[in-house]
Amino acid sequence: MSESARFLIDKLYGETSLSREEYAQLIAAHTNEDAEYLFSLALRRREEFYGRDVYIRGLIEFTNYCKNDCLYCGIRRSNRKAERYRLTFDEIMSCCEQGYGLGFRTFVLQGGEDAYFNDERLCNIVSSIKKKYPDCAVTLSVGERSRESYKALYDAGADRYLLRHETADNGHYARLHPKELSPENRKRCLADLKAIGYQVGCGFMVGSPYQTAENLADDMIYIKQLMPHMVGIGPFIPQKDTPFADKAAGTLEQTLFMLGIIRLTIPNVLLPATTALGTIHPLGREKGMMAGANVVMPNLSPVAVRDKYKLYDNKLCTGDEAAECRRCLQARMDRIGFHIVTDRGDCKR
Ligand code: SAH
Repeated sequence: MSESARFLIDKLYGETSLSREEYAQLIAAHTNEDAEYLFSLALRRREEFYGRDVYIRGLIEFTNYCKNDCLYCGIRRSNRKAERYRLTFDEIMSCCEQGYGLGFRTFVLQGGEDAYFNDERLCNIVSSIKKKYPDCAVTLSVGERSRESYKALYDAGADRYLLRHETADNGHYARLHPKELSPENRKRCLADLKAIGYQVGCGFMVGSPYQTAENLADDMIYIKQLMPHMVGIGPFIPQKDTPFADKAAGTLEQTLFMLGIIRLTIPNVLLPATTALGTIHPLGREKGMMAGANVVMPNLSPVAVRDKYKLYDNKLCTGDEAAECRRCLQARMDRIGFHIVTDRGDCKR
């Protein structure tokens, strides 16, 4: 075990933060043994707040129309090969009905930035779900909007909002996005969401093109300052019809290591083991749990549209019914001594 990495892991465990230089050093240089040590402490922290419980979120990918052109993303507007779809109001409600029956108490509405879903339509969907399922949380993940729009959606009943900051470094941000998208606006959105009262989730891809250990260190500093309730991270995975088709994917090892670091940086954070992590390794989500994650977000979208929501290639479970995904995940979690609970799964303080 390398002396300095172990020292830094102990320091992070004790103080819940490191300097930018220390984060960068730890991320850049550690052994497998160091990583195992980090995971053991991350698991201890996780258990202090959440025991062996696993929170589930039903993910409803309700539109893949998108006005943005993010270089990494398979549903970017320039991808002519993406077959576009939108779920109807009734289809969305029926996903929720199915999900409720399967024990989901959080519904995540995720989509591209689709102008069809203006405030009026989206508020109607949110308030209808909240009216029918008052014991459930509604999470939105529909990208950058105005503060007024976020407020209207919050007033309609939305509880949480996921908006990955993607990278805290402005130069790196510019290499992943077209110039009409700015890191300042992304961060403005997150600040507004938090000020309005949402439970907020930020996050980033691990191993995205051009990412350095210093970039990841900046992500940790940004996260520590924002203090979100959730942090969503997963490996970058190339999608064949994007400009990043030939870039290397992020690795399992680095994603797990970052999960452990995030758990020690915000001990009570809601931390999903993402579908992307399950996509790069058959036991990715299980390993994510063992590295400090406490949430999984199985798909509730209708099977007919699942393989059209392709942010990246080889996405998991695109052919499975929601009930099958739910059963499969339960078995996977049971096998490693964790249990899925029927609960809204709010952040513990
Ligand atoms: N449009 C919404 C939500 C959909 S994209 C938004 O912008 O927030 C959800 C997340 O998927 C993105 O934040 C990004 O981090 C991730 N993602 C996109 N393309 C990816 C890829 N090729 N590999 C891994 N993750 C990807």
